[in-house]
Amino acid sequence: MQHEFTIQVSPEVAAYPDRLKDSVAHKNGIPKTEIRHIEILKRSIDARQKAIKVNLKLKVYVEEDFVNNPIKLPHYPDVSNAQEIVIIGAGPAGLFAALRCVELGYKPVVLERGKDVQSRRRDLKAINRDHIVDEDSNYCFGEGGAGTYSDGKLYTRSKKRGDVNRILELLVGFGATDQILVEAHPHIGTNKLPNIIAAIREKIIELGGEIHFETRVIDFEIKNSQINGVTLFDKSTIATQKVILATGHSARDIFELLYRKKIEIEAKPFALGVRVEHPQQLIDQIQYKCNVRGPYLPPSPYSIVKQVAGRGMYSFCMCPGGVIAPCATSPGEVVTNGWSPSKRDQPTANSGIVIELRKEDFEPFAKYGPLAGMYFQKNIEQQAWRVGGETQRVPAQRLVDMTNGKMSVNMPVTSYKPGLTSADMSTVFPGFIHQVLQKGFGAFDKSMKGYLTNEAVVHAPESRTSSPVRIPRDWKTLEHIQIKGLYPCGEGAGYAGGIISAAIDGEKCAQACIEALKP
Ligand SMILES: Cc1cc2nc3c(=O)[nH]c(=O)nc-3n(C[C@H](O)[C@H](O)[C@H](O)COP(=O)(O)OP(=O)(O)OC[C@H]3O[C@@H](n4cnc5c(N)ncnc54)[C@H](O)[C@@H]3O)c2cc1C
Repeated sequence: MQHEFTIQVSPEVAAYPDRLKDSVAHKNGIPKTEIRHIEILKRSIDARQKAIKVNLKLKVYVEEDFVNNPIKLPHYPDVSNAQEIVIIGAGPAGLFAALRCVELGYKPVVLERGKDVQSRRRDLKAINRDHIVDEDSNYCFGEGGAGTYSDGKLYTRSKKRGDVNRILELLVGFGATDQILVEAHPHIGTNKLPNIIAAIREKIIELGGEIHFETRVIDFEIKNSQINGVTLFDKSTIATQKVILATGHSARDIFELLYRKKIEIEAKPFALGVRVEHPQQLIDQIQYKCNVRGPYLPPSPYSIVKQVAGRGMYSFCMCPGGVIAPCATSPGEVVTNGWSPSKRDQPTANSGIVIELRKEDFEPFAKYGPLAGMYFQKNIEQQAWRVGGETQRVPAQRLVDMTNGKMSVNMPVTSYKPGLTSADMSTVFPGFIHQVLQKGFGAFDKSMKGYLTNEAVVHAPESRTSSPVRIPRDWKTLEHIQIKGLYPCGEGAGYAGGIISAAIDGEKCAQACIEALKP
């Protein structure tokens, strides 16, 4: 017989199957000898009290054997000779759109400006070591998009559990640990993501799909409001009447192109701020209310949301045991983001701390119309580059010094490889952002006593939290509201905010596109 239970146990009990069996037997009055297997369905940590607990949802097999059914990939037919669908961008949105096309019997032709995951590594090294940013191959551009060398946290605000589970199961099918199906806050880690992405590519190609790297799209051919083809970097064209546009939130040239061609786009509010780095041990002490994290607990994350001077200020993409990465996509700008390896075993914790922006904030850039937010963002990134010393060194300030408006005289070791330049944050940000951040860190310290410390360092800016532009589409057909056959997709179009939601949107766009192709 199978029974489902929820149970709260200590982290130590949760770590040892036999001790967990004792606990389940005892709490449920089942003889231990009758329990043949315990399957963990969901796991989360409750660190609200000093005695930390692990919440488990379990399926207990009593006098019944457990049959392991490993996750299998869906049946994918060969699509070598099938009808083609062009997909621009091989990020999570583009790749999951491609997989869905194959699953439904259509041939994806993916056009990606960057390089494959392996070749991309050299360009990441060049940013970190030599401060050289390749406009087509960096932390945001290349196979797997911004998702490949990302942190790989897989939680999403998406309400549709079915869709989320489907993407998680596909990731497991392509090599991710099955623990992502169990953890309340699943995480893959930067060291594991590239192989998963490469496995997806190999499957698409094996079944007859095409993926073209170093193939930047520079124009769209449009006739009578219908997409007729795309123009590539070498001026060659691909004729097509169906294009899924999944170019991500950093493809500024695509936003410029749409604007120039008078294809409807809208300014979209987003959030912007800094990336703060603390010693991981300090975050563990605050969150786990201890001096030293116990051996059965993972490095602690944190999440804070506050209202400061009428604006939301919140932690974003927090990476326990992680590293701050240089995520610029053009020379002459500085952008930060964060990642962590699967074990989250680096000595520092980092998190974006951002404030919500409104369309009115973009007023100084109103002459750029719907690109006003993008220019607002770009202006801050370029200013950070100037303040940082016209390299990829990031303007930085100790946290208490920042709140007191004082320059830091020295800096602790940082995980940000290109290095730091001591700076006053008021020289990087417009006054209102600087003031909200200064005030807000005091409020953060009230929720997490000890957060506001000079052991923490502010790195600026964290500016690519979501797209500054929306490419509007019909809610039902998912086609662009003005251009037939064009499917704005994923984070760059304003319909996703992370790996999972981008992948879900990719699948949705592929389905909608195929629906429209059916006679
Ligand atoms: C360091 C870092 C850490 C992150 N951590 C997390 C995390 O832990 N969890 C999470 O959910 N999200 C995280 N993210 C965000 C996540 O990666 C993105 O939300 C997600 O990748 C968006 O997917 P997308 O497919 O819509 O766009 P993207 O991933 O941006 O992909 C767009 C692709 O389009 C290509 N492209 C652009 N223009 C052109 C063109 N003209 N022609 C051809 N190709 C083009 C780009 O090269 C790119 O490969 C992180 C991002 C970064 C940079």
